[in-house]
Amino acid sequence: MKRVGVLSLQGDVGEHVSMLEALGSEVVKVRTVEQLNSVDGLVLPGGESTTIAHLLGTSGLKDVLGAKLEQGLPVFGTCAGLILLSTVVLDGRSDQWSYGALSLSVRRNGYGRQIASFESTLDVKGLGGVPGVFIRAPRIESYGDDVEVLATLDHGDGTGEHPVFVRQDRVWGASFHPELTGDARLHELFLNSL
Ligand code: GLN
Repeated sequence: MKRVGVLSLQGDVGEHVSMLEALGSEVVKVRTVEQLNSVDGLVLPGGESTTIAHLLGTSGLKDVLGAKLEQGLPVFGTCAGLILLSTVVLDGRSDQWSYGALSLSVRRNGYGRQIASFESTLDVKGLGGVPGVFIRAPRIESYGDDVEVLATLDHGDGTGEHPVFVRQDRVWGASFHPELTGDARLHELFLNSL
């Protein structure tokens, strides 16, 4: 059986763990390098990207995960996790760093503040309608040729369609929270890619 990790430094760890366990995988809550070394794939949860980035540094996981991303570790980042995987972070903190594993430029809180959180049904390539919960979600402003766009959303704010679910090689990203719904198909897609 494949072992999948959920980075467990901050954010909505428990919901990802429950969803992955319900799909029958062995789940490791990753807080140490040893735990990171034991998994076949990793989920980066939503939360606060600056806090998770800080804790990646203090835990010693930052560079090890960077090297693993370069070596092709499958990783699925949701919301703050997507921000951490992107190349360019707009409206970030001045010292905000990110891994650049996804050729994306993302704007933090690009859909508005907490009060502007919303749910939307997304038409995901190959799956059809999948519910998405957007909470202070990053908005993907531009992307490279190597990014496969699997779902887009027009939020009706006049800026047109933006990608909300993407894949680049073995790295997946969603600007929303698939773990906060009863629909586990995106996690299943990720698990099937391990
Ligand atoms: N806005 C948060 C950040 O920049 C992300 C929000 C979330 O993960 N729900 O980190």
